[in-house]
Amino acid sequence: MAASPGLSTRGNIAILSMLLCILVGGTWLVVKVTADHLLYRSTTSTARNWGRYLAESITDLEQIAAGERPSNASMVFFQAARRSGQVFRYEIFNRYGYSQLVSDQEKITVVDLSEFNADAARAIDSGQPIVDTQAGHSADLPAFYARAYVPVVIDQRPVAVVAAYIDQTTARNEVYKTFLLAAASLCLLTALSFGLPAIAWYRRTKEKQHADRRIRFLAHHDALTGLTNRPYLIEMLEKALAVLPVRGGSIAVHFIDIDRFKEINDTLGHDGGDFLLKTVAGRLRATIRLDDIVARLGGDEFVVIQSDANGKDAAEQFARRLMSALTVPMQFKENAILSTVSVGIALAPADGSNPERLLKSADLALYKAKADGRDCFRFFLPEMDTELQARIELEGIIRDAVRHDRFELYYQPLFEMSDRRLVGFEALIRLPRKDGTLIPPMVFIPVAKELRLIDKIGTWVLREACRTAMTWPEHMTVAVNLSAAQFLTGSISAIVAVALKETGLAAKRLELEITETLLLGNTETIIAELRTLKAMGVAIVMDDFGTGYSSLSYLWRFPFDKIKIDRSFMQGCDGPSHEAETVVKTIIALGRELHMRVTVEGVETAKQAAFLEQVDGDQVQGFFFGRPIPASELAASILADFQWQQAHELEAKGKIRLVT
Ligand code: C2E
Ligand code: MG
Ligand code: MG
Repeated sequence: MAASPGLSTRGNIAILSMLLCILVGGTWLVVKVTADHLLYRSTTSTARNWGRYLAESITDLEQIAAGERPSNASMVFFQAARRSGQVFRYEIFNRYGYSQLVSDQEKITVVDLSEFNADAARAIDSGQPIVDTQAGHSADLPAFYARAYVPVVIDQRPVAVVAAYIDQTTARNEVYKTFLLAAASLCLLTALSFGLPAIAWYRRTKEKQHADRRIRFLAHHDALTGLTNRPYLIEMLEKALAVLPVRGGSIAVHFIDIDRFKEINDTLGHDGGDFLLKTVAGRLRATIRLDDIVARLGGDEFVVIQSDANGKDAAEQFARRLMSALTVPMQFKENAILSTVSVGIALAPADGSNPERLLKSADLALYKAKADGRDCFRFFLPEMDTELQARIELEGIIRDAVRHDRFELYYQPLFEMSDRRLVGFEALIRLPRKDGTLIPPMVFIPVAKELRLIDKIGTWVLREACRTAMTWPEHMTVAVNLSAAQFLTGSISAIVAVALKETGLAAKRLELEITETLLLGNTETIIAELRTLKAMGVAIVMDDFGTGYSSLSYLWRFPFDKIKIDRSFMQGCDGPSHEAETVVKTIIALGRELHMRVTVEGVETAKQAAFLEQVDGDQVQGFFFGRPIPASELAASILADFQWQQAHELEAKGKIRLVT
């Protein structure tokens, strides 16, 4: 196994410190040995010189060595030599190495009982001076001194040995002081010349390590939240799945997506979005157990791996815990963020035996949770795969149709109830597939809304419907359905005005159909828009009336021009009970009271048509009277109506008799 970088750095530091110690210690040692050597050389040389000087200067040395008293001249010399300061003692030995005279301090002693000195004897034998240095250990000796035993040879005959003891304490101290200074300076220099690059190297290594750690962290984690990223999650999931067969149990993958994150991001700005993501990350971290993994896959998508899920129930409980932790309101500056999340759950090994498949299964389940209204969790089911394929295909067709204007408008006729006169058409959008079959609006409009393409589509419908209506007789109207989403993004009245202006259609010929869901939201702004449209001369129609939550309350909040009774009531009329019929009659009466025209939608059968004979409605629409048809077939339909009307007029005038 490779050593970790941390360990190798510590090892390197130890080696460097050791090298530094060796260098400093070595420098110290070399300087010390050199100083000692020099001191020895200088000290012993001084001693030897003194010895020689004494040997040459004392004329009666042979006599003294033979045990006679020194001459007066020698005594004077001894005194003088001792006073010179450095020589604190000298001795004269006979040629056998026995001491004969000792001059010590103030005293010159002629030794009676002479003592043998091995050094002196050696000097006589070798004929060479013997020198050494000594440390003085008693009070009468200097701390450091040198001794020289110099043999005195007369006529090639050794006659005596002169020993000089030289006090070298001051000299030694001086040398040591200089040595210390030199050693310290050298050590400092060595330390600096070695240490500075070493420190620089150490700092560089540390910085590199820090950068390496950061790079490694970023390679495995998400920079914003610090959570595990997708590649690392897959790596860990792979490991967890590898041990699953041995360990048993199951792993749950919880795919979490913040509901309407984009809206929050748009409202609070990126700071707010980042705050939300970080808070979610923090809460997820706080909710999971030690063995679990929490990752951010990007955007507002998080994944939690519940490592020991132990079946569906445990996964469900865990998902509930995650959801309730994440839906606690958060405070960002002065804004309270109330967000919900949707969760898709996949279980391993049942829903996938590799990370990619598991994540895909969880993502599909999340997709279902979103489609089911968000703020909920869903488990993966095998059939979700095909649903997703269909959805992806549909999204592709929608995008393509928007890009290349591939939508088509069909037109369903509206007739006056009293005389069955054609009064206009409702434009109904169709999305053709490649094979020519048509996708109904109920299928693709909700998807287009999610893709945020409904604005573009709606604008195209308006323009296209107005353009087509311009080809019809002037008394005919065109009805266009508006989706609530079209009111949210921009000014719909401005878009309508442009469509009218560009196509030249008179505003009174345009009817705009809205459903009551539009009025559930930001009503004030929407009602203001509707008023603007009405003021332009456009008729506003309440579509699918009777299917919503509180239709009646909307009726008095805005003066609709027309109410279209939802087709479900017509279907109800086919049943045995007369309740639906009563409701239809009541709505028509209500419309009368409120001065709103009433259209009955979804008339499919002759029985339904017959029932309408008895009621006081304004217009009818339904398969019984005419199915939605493409624009290309409209001319024939309009012509047929024209002929029908003319035939009726002739019949009225008694000129012909129509046979039905
Ligand atoms: P809607 O506005 O209520 O349109 C009437 C729907 O009822 C049409 O369905 C029409 O084909 C269908 N219909 C008409 N008569 C009968 C009948 O006798 N029996 C039955 N069973 N159905 C009948 P379509 O065209 O599938 O449209 C469905 C809905 O899609 C429309 O309901 C409308 O809400 C929406 N839609 C259609 N075109 C557009 C559009 O251009 N923009 C928007 N935003 N929505 C549209
Ligand atoms: Mg409609
Ligand atoms: Mg309708």
